[in-house]
Amino acid sequence: MQGFGIIGKGKIMDCSCIDIDSSDYPGPKLFKEKIVKARKQHKCSECDADIQPGERYENASGVWDGEFSTHKTCSICCEIRNALFCGTYMFGEVWEEIRQLGDELTLEDLEIFSKEAQVKICEML
Ligand SMILES: [Zn+2]
Repeated sequence: MQGFGIIGKGKIMDCSCIDIDSSDYPGPKLFKEKIVKARKQHKCSECDADIQPGERYENASGVWDGEFSTHKTCSICCEIRNALFCGTYMFGEVWEEIRQLGDELTLEDLEIFSKEAQVKICEML
């Protein structure tokens, strides 16, 4: 069980394609997420790509089921996740969910993303 995160309140969500029912899961305690600059190389927990020193990424941490863990997400995965997910999401399963969405994603949906994110979606699907 990887635990799930919560898309921050007050952020603009103009799409609610994916809404995971999280009522079966215990919520994280002490959940915190912040965008930080990488001081050394990390791996994105979503796409497995390297996060290079100097790049910004999201560092989310919390206690799930009594265990403390952190999840690092590269800026592109963050952008895509925040746009496509509503409310809660499972760490490490963002791309799995997007693949399931697959054909339902239209070119119009992709227009909300930056070029980098569009390229990534094409690569990952
Ligand atoms: Zn990533």
